[in-house]
Amino acid sequence: MKTIGILTSGGDAPGMNAAIRAVVRTAVYNKLRVMAIRRGFNGLIRGDIEEMSAASVGEIIHRGGTILRTARCEEFNTPEGVKKAYNIAKIFGIDAVVVIGGDGSFRGARDLSRLGMPVVGIPGTIDNDIACTEYTIGFDTAVNTVIDALNKIRDTVTSHERINIIEVMGRHAGDIALYSGLAGGAENIIVPEVKYDIDEICKNLIQGKNRGKQSYIMIVAEGAGNAFNIAREIEEKTGFEVRVTVLGHLQRGGSPTAMDRILASRMGAHAVNILLEGRINRVVAIHGSQIVDYDIDEALSMSKGISESMYQLAGILSI
Ligand code: ATP
Repeated sequence: MKTIGILTSGGDAPGMNAAIRAVVRTAVYNKLRVMAIRRGFNGLIRGDIEEMSAASVGEIIHRGGTILRTARCEEFNTPEGVKKAYNIAKIFGIDAVVVIGGDGSFRGARDLSRLGMPVVGIPGTIDNDIACTEYTIGFDTAVNTVIDALNKIRDTVTSHERINIIEVMGRHAGDIALYSGLAGGAENIIVPEVKYDIDEICKNLIQGKNRGKQSYIMIVAEGAGNAFNIAREIEEKTGFEVRVTVLGHLQRGGSPTAMDRILASRMGAHAVNILLEGRINRVVAIHGSQIVDYDIDEALSMSKGISESMYQLAGILSI
């Protein structure tokens, strides 16, 4: 193992740069070469590859996004595309590829590994939807961004004694909604994993108003239902005025939190150490405070649900 390729793929996440920095510097420290592969798997297919140095990852630990750029690559979903990527990696002398991204990107990495290219996956996605790890890089920053927005919305909602629905990211996973809802004291949290009952929500809302609640904030994960439709339904059923705020791509940007920078630094270093130990086709994860790793097939076969105890707690604390 002499040369490692590194790419970021799928949705960008704050902390990806800190992970790139950790991979590059741990590799250079251990006398390995690192090749930057730009725009995800596209870079492998097109040969958009260049050698990195310890200096090339300076001044990036605090920056959101990814200096390697990211993309979704349709061609890589075909066997021909994967073969092409494998051949190009070989031409550039790459002995293993570190892939920072979500589970789609890990599926791509697994395809590459099946042709004989060793891979290591680092979970980088704001959604926290990778089953083998308790936390993904970017999640903590995204949750803090949502809380910041929620606090600001709370000020205006309280002043007008209104109801506001905040739509957050999470097509299949409700962790951003759950964690930000719990941390921000949201009155209701709607996630894709739990079916909601609009009448129950309206009842809580009316009871809350009667108890003197001055503001009412609901967090809706985008995959759980259309926030505007939910707002209209509540207005029709209760007569209350409901406003909607869609946070959108705001949640992807920003300087990573200390938690994300540390997680990314530890995971990046661990990825290189796995390869130095001669282990291959792994996904890095965190459990408790321990950085661990899983076989990539095992990691991709695992499934993740929402924390029921946290969901119930959020309900109890919002009475
Ligand atoms: P996020 O969850 O943040 O969106 P992701 O890694 O899950 O990240 P995807 O768009 O699913 O994002 O995947 C990124 C890229 O990985 C795809 O554009 C494609 O190149 C590759 N990929 C995804 N799924 C597969 C697959 N089943 N086989 C081969 N490659 C895949």
